[in-house]
Amino acid sequence: MTDARWRHAGIPVVDGHVHVNRFDLMTPAAQTTIRSNATFPLMERFVASPEAFLEHMDREGVAQSWLINYCAKKVMGYGPEVNEWVANYVEADPERLVAVGGVEVDAASEESIERLHDLGIQALKVHTVHQHVSPDDQRLEPAFAACERLGMPVIFHTGTSRFPGSDNRFADPAPIAAVCARHPKLRIILAHGGRPDHTQTALAILSKHPNAWLDLSSCPPRRLPDYFGDLEALAPRTLWGSDWPGPGVPGMGPNIEAFLALGLSAKANRAILRDNAMALLR
Ligand SMILES: [Zn+2]
Repeated sequence: MTDARWRHAGIPVVDGHVHVNRFDLMTPAAQTTIRSNATFPLMERFVASPEAFLEHMDREGVAQSWLINYCAKKVMGYGPEVNEWVANYVEADPERLVAVGGVEVDAASEESIERLHDLGIQALKVHTVHQHVSPDDQRLEPAFAACERLGMPVIFHTGTSRFPGSDNRFADPAPIAAVCARHPKLRIILAHGGRPDHTQTALAILSKHPNAWLDLSSCPPRRLPDYFGDLEALAPRTLWGSDWPGPGVPGMGPNIEAFLALGLSAKANRAILRDNAMALLR
């Protein structure tokens, strides 16, 4: 099961939440926030070169990365052009790089999702607080129906964001419950588990809806037990992610080390750090 080539407990880790984004398109205000991460210049280099990013993944002990792109033209500066860009980027190594894309709320048709699917994009990201939309907004329904039909998971941002222009009224994951209920075959990922204020709501959705998954990204690993309690019990539906180079995230490798230091069972570590993510993309 384990492999000595992989330095994190022998596990070929899947980082299910990395921001390899069009930072060149970012608004000046968002640029200022992302540049607060001291390691950001590294990522800026990797955006220009998938080969350099793959080498970085080798050094960090990461086997596969999900590249979380989304559309939030007004707040972040990038729109639908990110989809073709990320689809093209992952061609450098489609086994190790997974394209995640997005749609603007007013363009969330079934056809828009079919286009993403045709491009090779494997999951849809909805950034509630950057797109100023509630997860259960009716305008998103056609997109969810298409994702359910095509087997594409939907990743919701949950919890607050400190990027300027964020509307943290949309940070509460509670409305995701209705989406889970309406689309029982749709796999729904609650990115960041509602941290810091809505973690209990996220857990309640997980316990009620078997099609909901938790993504641990952007939570400082040592705080995970405070946020989510018994991670062993949650392991069957929990995914690993770093959110690097988001504000305050030290790096992909350092975050994995801090997570392993929590001392979960080998079985839970393996499920969270790899197997659950691989199974979600079937
Ligand atoms: Zn993120």
